[in-house]
Amino acid sequence: MTDFGGALKKLSGNNKFKLAVIGVPFDEKSSYRRGAAFGPEAVRRISTGKCYNPDTELGVDLAEETVLVDLGDVDTSGDVLKTFAAVEEKVLEIINFGAIPIILGGDHSITYPVVKAMARKYRPLDLLHLDAHPDMYDELYGDRLSHACPMARILEEGLVQNLVQVGIRATTPEMRAMAEKYGVQTIEARNFPEKLSLEFKNPLFISVDLDVFDPAYAPGVSHHEPGGLTSRQVIDLVHNLKATIVGFDLVELNPQRDVSEMTAALAFKLLKEIAGKVVRP
Ligand code: MN
Ligand code: MN
Repeated sequence: MTDFGGALKKLSGNNKFKLAVIGVPFDEKSSYRRGAAFGPEAVRRISTGKCYNPDTELGVDLAEETVLVDLGDVDTSGDVLKTFAAVEEKVLEIINFGAIPIILGGDHSITYPVVKAMARKYRPLDLLHLDAHPDMYDELYGDRLSHACPMARILEEGLVQNLVQVGIRATTPEMRAMAEKYGVQTIEARNFPEKLSLEFKNPLFISVDLDVFDPAYAPGVSHHEPGGLTSRQVIDLVHNLKATIVGFDLVELNPQRDVSEMTAALAFKLLKEIAGKVVRP
């Protein structure tokens, strides 16, 4: 475990932390390749202050201007429902403490219990979902908790008021009908504008599936879907957000497919830039 570019503070009794990282080393709901369970460890390993500083591009010093802690990994040794319950409980604990949860996945199935917890405190809640895939399948291979399904569960349970999906490039007529039915706003990768400034009225949760990036930028994911966004486009999108961010996750990092830890480094970069927007919206 390293120090998140020198931004990490040690947890102590009277430490009023503002940002809390948790890892969810879980990939049992991956439909294709496993490996996302090693994602949290890979982000922690790459994020050493020997290589990175705690400053964001917009000038926020995460070591000075906030208190970031790492609460370790959620227990994923039990069955799936136990793991999901543990994730929900941990996230709820962080937000009830008044802090912002940063969840490192894990496959994308974990976003369902995460958003469940967020919606217990924040109603109405908005959701910005960055992904190559809409993840709105009712079920995949008979599994309604697959990593291809979290947005379907979130929508049918009415956990969010506005869902905006960005970077989509592997959708289907069925998914488009779902988007239409639930009023999901979709900005497909092919329509990504030169400048994108998204505004959210309600507290915002951001869910980042790292396959939103083109595989050239992020090879360390289980599903390579060419034609994706550049690192610059996603970072600019984050910088241009007008929203109160109340939590975010970074999922689907598969270190077994990574090249020179470049996808882990990109995940850490995004963690810093989104955290910076939390500190200074
Ligand atoms: Mn995806
Ligand atoms: Mn996904």
